[in-house]
Amino acid sequence: MNAPAIVWFRNDLRIADNPALLAAARTGAPLVALYILDEESAGEWRAGAASRWWLHHSLAALSQSLAERGVPLTLRRGRAQYVFEQIIAETGADAVFWNRLYEPWAMRRDEEIDSQLREDGVQCHRFHEALLFEPEKLRTRQGESFRVFTPFWRACLAATPPKRPLPAPQELRAAPLPPDSDDLEAWRLLPQNPDWAVGMRNVWLVGETAARAELADFARHHVADYKSERDFMGRVGVSRLSPHLHFGEISPREVWRAISDPGSIGGEAYLRELGWREFCHHLLIAHWELPDRPLDRAFERFPYRDDEIALDAWRRGQTGYPLVDAAMRELWITGWMHNRARLVAASFLIKHLLIDWREGERWFWVTLVDADLANNSANWQWVAGCGADAAPYFRIFNPALQGEKFDPDGDYVRRYVPELARLDARYIHSPWAAPEPALREAGVRLGGTYPHPIVDHAKARERALAAFESMRGRASARPA
Ligand code: FAD
Repeated sequence: MNAPAIVWFRNDLRIADNPALLAAARTGAPLVALYILDEESAGEWRAGAASRWWLHHSLAALSQSLAERGVPLTLRRGRAQYVFEQIIAETGADAVFWNRLYEPWAMRRDEEIDSQLREDGVQCHRFHEALLFEPEKLRTRQGESFRVFTPFWRACLAATPPKRPLPAPQELRAAPLPPDSDDLEAWRLLPQNPDWAVGMRNVWLVGETAARAELADFARHHVADYKSERDFMGRVGVSRLSPHLHFGEISPREVWRAISDPGSIGGEAYLRELGWREFCHHLLIAHWELPDRPLDRAFERFPYRDDEIALDAWRRGQTGYPLVDAAMRELWITGWMHNRARLVAASFLIKHLLIDWREGERWFWVTLVDADLANNSANWQWVAGCGADAAPYFRIFNPALQGEKFDPDGDYVRRYVPELARLDARYIHSPWAAPEPALREAGVRLGGTYPHPIVDHAKARERALAAFESMRGRASARPA
């Protein structure tokens, strides 16, 4: 009888368009479906609390889909190298199939496992599926990795287009004696006490089926208006597919195929955002230090401040700037934040509060259901002005003006900052400017029901620009 083959699921928690699963199924070998919770290898970048909540439900969904096809999902916890030793000894498997990951810790680990398994006579089959374009194949004319988005995206569009998504395997055959599995509940990925996931349960359906339905709905009803609607935080203008994409419940190729409609302005704008996802991964692969060090090394001398009180106010959505507070509370309640809100909230932390971008990056890591090492670190660096193709440092968002522009009726603020819900739209983004009767009528007491701004915008802006100048001064004064 054939020896079993192991399909190692990672951030590809789906059945359809899963090259590793399909290739393993096509060998005709009995399958062991395996997921390893390898927090040791991930180290400080192991999944944060909100991602663990998502992972629990995503694994439950995958386990059910596999069970319907007769294959149990084996769950094991520990360093993947050791888990493989055990599973191979237990099952006699002679092949392992997996789809590649691009986090530096995972790339390092996977190389080790690949050589360890080959030494032991186990074949390794690795596939590319997490990105639309193979990152190693995209190079500048000088043969280097890209640091600027527009030429990068041009190179992507000129490359061989993404392949058609693969079908789900028609038939899966389980190994006759599947290895024992851990109990998912016992992993305690869900919050225990207190249960802070109520808001997340209310807004998300997790798993491959839900992801496909979300994509279909977005492609049918919203993508046409994506370009004009995507910045409005109180409206349904974006796809909210990011956690599904991060956990691989849907493949970028499926999204590409559903959205590609030549000549559609909304579609083109949307594919360009998928392009940013590709670019962030391209950057992380070329710069493993991306999550920890500014790509522009001059920023290593940036005079950030330690200010626990301000950092805490930012995290809790108590800065006195309604748009920033709505953003941070949306994150806390739902595990997600609208992109425009991410830009404003991140900029506020870095520039108004002069707090190191890595503090924000780490808070997002813990609280986002779509926390993704490449997207998170590249975007934080972008906002901080220290990344590749970054926003110029001196472009400092005014949160009140951003609110007036992209949340004109205040719907977004009203939803997440209920203590301001009755305030007239004229003042909802700057309650400090409201006349006393307007505040009284809306039941708002500044410094009581809602905080005064923790910094003054104009002064904070000046302070940020001065800090930037002092960094530049230090950079140019540096001995050659
Ligand atoms: P849509 O607008 O519908 O876009 C479709 C898809 O394109 C997204 O699902 C995402 O995969 C990709 N995408 C869109 N914008 C970007 C972008 N700027 N960079 C990279 N990919 C993008 N995205 C994450 O997936 N994980 C993160 O941890 C993350 N952290 C961020 C931190 C900051 C400070 C900022 C400014 C942005 C961050 N983003 C992150 C990017 C972006 O905000 C989210 O991908 C987007 O808001 C997800 O919502 P959506 O699926 O509705 O996006």
